[in-house]
Amino acid sequence: APVVRAVNLVKIYQTGGLPVPAVRGVDLTVEAGEFVAIMGPSGSGKSTLVHMLGGLDTRTSGEIWLDGRRADTLSESGWAVLRREKIGFVFQFFNLVANMTVADNVELPALLGGVSPRQARERREYLLGELGLTDRAGASPAQLSGGEQQRVALARALANQPRLLLADEPTGNLDSRNTRDVLRLLGQVHGQGQTIALVTHDARVASMADRVVSLLDGQIVDDGAIPKSRRRP
Ligand code: ADP
Ligand code: ADP
Repeated sequence: APVVRAVNLVKIYQTGGLPVPAVRGVDLTVEAGEFVAIMGPSGSGKSTLVHMLGGLDTRTSGEIWLDGRRADTLSESGWAVLRREKIGFVFQFFNLVANMTVADNVELPALLGGVSPRQARERREYLLGELGLTDRAGASPAQLSGGEQQRVALARALANQPRLLLADEPTGNLDSRNTRDVLRLLGQVHGQGQTIALVTHDARVASMADRVVSLLDGQIVDDGAIPKSRRRP
């Protein structure tokens, strides 16, 4: 089964009585190991789409399947379990646990996922090392810059080697050196088989993807594989 399948997915926000259609009948399939970049102008529905795929927003109609299981009908607690077991998130709010160190924030999902403390520590050291955060491991989230928090959120999302990495603008706040570190890590985990679906405005991020899905006014207007020759190595 694909890792993600959305079928005729619709989201209409009801605000102040006026319906705002944000996602209008999206069909999207992401296969295991694929790296899909979701692009499109501001307001085209990108965030709403990935929020629905992660169960953070409810859908108005349509279906979401994760790993062959129907997910859109799950309760909040069902989604919570699914997220813990299968999905790593990097969203625009980072939600790091304030009273835990960076190291503990990153190790926690792996420990909850049942890996040994030693494996969790090794995974954390690898991820923080790749993201240039080794010397921040003992800091608390409040001591970090926005860009550092964003990279910690990525490390945490990958700690558990989730079935699916979902991200909303993972390089949004980063300078070019930190963007390069994030790109390198995404390339590495993708090379190790990590399935990735992310929203980006950054052509460098999109150039690493297997597919770019373009949204306009809540609909997919282009869903194209990138020829291998145009991909970065
Ligand atoms: P993008 O991520 O592509 O910028 P969004 O998914 O954030 O697009 O927004 C798509 C549309 O839905 C926009 O018209 C936006 O104003 C609207 N929208 C997003 N979130 C809400 C919300 N919570 N309530 C009402 N309208 C919303
Ligand atoms: P259960 O206790 O069986 O898990 P749920 O809380 O999952 O019950 O679902 C209660 C009702 O809400 C069901 O009819 C379900 O289809 C509907 N529902 C659940 N999630 C969503 C959603 N994201 N959007 C719309 N309806 C939903």
